[in-house]
Amino acid sequence: MQLPALDMPVFQPGWVWLAGAGPGDPGLLTLHAVNALNQADVVIYDALVGDGILRCARANTVLEYAGKRGGKPSLKQRDISERLVELARQGKRVLRLKGGDPFVFGRGAEEALSLREAGIPFRIIPGISAGIGGLAYAGIPLTHRDTNSCVTFLTGHNASGEVPDSLDWAAMVRASPVLVIYMAMKHLDILVAKLSHAGLAGERPAALVQNATLPEMRILVSRLDRIVADAEAAQMAPPALLVVGEVVDLQAAFGRSDLQATLTMGAACQAAS
Ligand code: SAH
Repeated sequence: MQLPALDMPVFQPGWVWLAGAGPGDPGLLTLHAVNALNQADVVIYDALVGDGILRCARANTVLEYAGKRGGKPSLKQRDISERLVELARQGKRVLRLKGGDPFVFGRGAEEALSLREAGIPFRIIPGISAGIGGLAYAGIPLTHRDTNSCVTFLTGHNASGEVPDSLDWAAMVRASPVLVIYMAMKHLDILVAKLSHAGLAGERPAALVQNATLPEMRILVSRLDRIVADAEAAQMAPPALLVVGEVVDLQAAFGRSDLQATLTMGAACQAAS
């Protein structure tokens, strides 16, 4: 893939580049990520990095999968870090490619620390996080002057797969008019219960966006007290983001014809293609 003459960095052997691939649409790769794909000897990629993106790697690049697929357990985080170190020590140019941004709920920090500990030189390449780019594709702005000047991003599960217990739900609900929740599907009912218990009104607009930015993108617009039932009826599945707040209403107000045709408050959920 040709890059404009931008004086992009050279990928040195023995280095690891820890890069974000964006939410899915290959058009959302950064030039730095494309530059990395152009030069890498090995790409270690996660489940959220699709074929469209891997096709951007140069011929002969070894593609190694490090995610969860087909019911098989994912590689342990320690195994992934060890593999990165091992390949770098073999003198490979190692591209560690993650969905979205590597430092947003992506364990990029853990890998960076392991590389540092092992004395492996590395570079961080940010990516467009799903909570930003994905919601934009769904027509949901994160901020709007009339509704909010603050957004909170949180994760629906922690390292052991449970809803994080360290969160102060009441404080979050009071302080932040818009909440964007990653990994929202596994414990959707618990998350919604926590938000209601913390004081969010049942009629608060809420949406789920599945496979954002991809041709299979699905958007479910609902409200807090109905979204669990609506999600079940529409068989919403991961990867999906939950967004709660008035900004959800702007999605319909934008009147984007491709979205508007497929959306009905509180019920419908179809592909937004
Ligand atoms: N580092 C990633 C997030 C990894 S956590 C980023 O910055 O985007 C994985 C979660 O991200 C998923 O459970 C889902 O909530 C969200 N996600 C990632 N890609 C997505 C997509 N294309 N559509 C919807 N949600 C997505």
